[in-house]
Amino acid sequence: MVYTNPIRMSESLSSQLPNQDLIKDLENIRYALDQSSIVAITDNKGVIEYVNDKFVEISKYSREELIGKTHRVINSKHHPKEFIKNLWDTILSGQIWRGELRNRAKDGTYYWVDTTITPLLDKHGKIQKFISIRNDITKRKELEQQKDEFIAVASHELKTPITSLSLYLQLLNKQLKPAENKSLLPMVEKMQKQLNKLSSLVSDLLDVTKIEAGQIQFNFQTFTLSDLIAETIDEVQSVSPHHQIQFQNSVSATVKGDRERIGQVLTNLLINAVKYSPAANQVEVQLLKNHESITVGVKDFGIGIEPSDRDNIFTRFYRTKNNHSKSIPGIGLGLYISSEIIKRHQGKIWVDSHPGQGSIFYFSLPVDNK
Ligand code: ADP
Repeated sequence: MVYTNPIRMSESLSSQLPNQDLIKDLENIRYALDQSSIVAITDNKGVIEYVNDKFVEISKYSREELIGKTHRVINSKHHPKEFIKNLWDTILSGQIWRGELRNRAKDGTYYWVDTTITPLLDKHGKIQKFISIRNDITKRKELEQQKDEFIAVASHELKTPITSLSLYLQLLNKQLKPAENKSLLPMVEKMQKQLNKLSSLVSDLLDVTKIEAGQIQFNFQTFTLSDLIAETIDEVQSVSPHHQIQFQNSVSATVKGDRERIGQVLTNLLINAVKYSPAANQVEVQLLKNHESITVGVKDFGIGIEPSDRDNIFTRFYRTKNNHSKSIPGIGLGLYISSEIIKRHQGKIWVDSHPGQGSIFYFSLPVDNK
């Protein structure tokens, strides 16, 4: 995560306070910081010049072993090269970097830190030093890992019985003769519908597991986006007869991507548009194109989303606290999976919304110009 407004050293210490008071205040702030956080200062090449006691304690290295070295000493080799490159690109461009890092202590154990690295610039804007402030989040990470492992095992184990139940239901459906089994057939249909819901829930959980493990596979090909939209609308329309899904198709464009995964994003957005607009009966799909990108908008006239929720709805398991949405079933994974899929296509996903009036979910993909 990148933040702007780095600190310029010469301007940072405001001249509003008399010198003595300012020094006292700074000492107090540093004392408080040392009590709460793991602090390190490096030169502009990343060579460590200062570490506080908490850094020494968590890394299990002595101060002498750390000063003069770079953070490579505590590198756990957990993060992909691009992640570390992004960190360096950010701070070397004078911006603040914030994120979660796994480090390796001297005894070989790992610890996780929530990290903010701030470049300090001189009055010409040149980087002088980097200050990193970290907080230990190892406990939270371990709990998250246990939860992820449980989800992975449970969803994997659920997959087999669901598949065989589905097969038996299909067999049953074939064997029942409509004329003789009038009352049974609708029951079998209802069972199949519930099983489909269960199956899509389990496949969402499996997708999350794959995303977290960096194992989600994409099969890139060139395809016409408007055709995929029309197909997906047909599918969603067949299970949502109450809503009229309209698509004004005036743009023809090909994109390069995983057709099935992009279809999954569209399905998620369309199903949400229907699900979160129980009092409306219309959904509109738009397609806009410029030189670089093609944008899809899915518009509903439903309950909408409060501004405070808009950043969070793309994180996993997040559901809004809105009273209307509480009664609508869901587990908060569809938008997270969709945003990961779009990110992997170098695209963007976002929402515009007016609470009580409706929302438009957009995603854009680079146009395939070849
Ligand atoms: P789910 O629908 O299973 O809860 P999603 O990840 O698809 O999970 O959505 C996350 C949350 O975002 C939902 O719980 C809901 O609160 C909100 N949301 C998503 N789409 C809409 C929409 N079209 N209108 C209003 N709220 C929405």
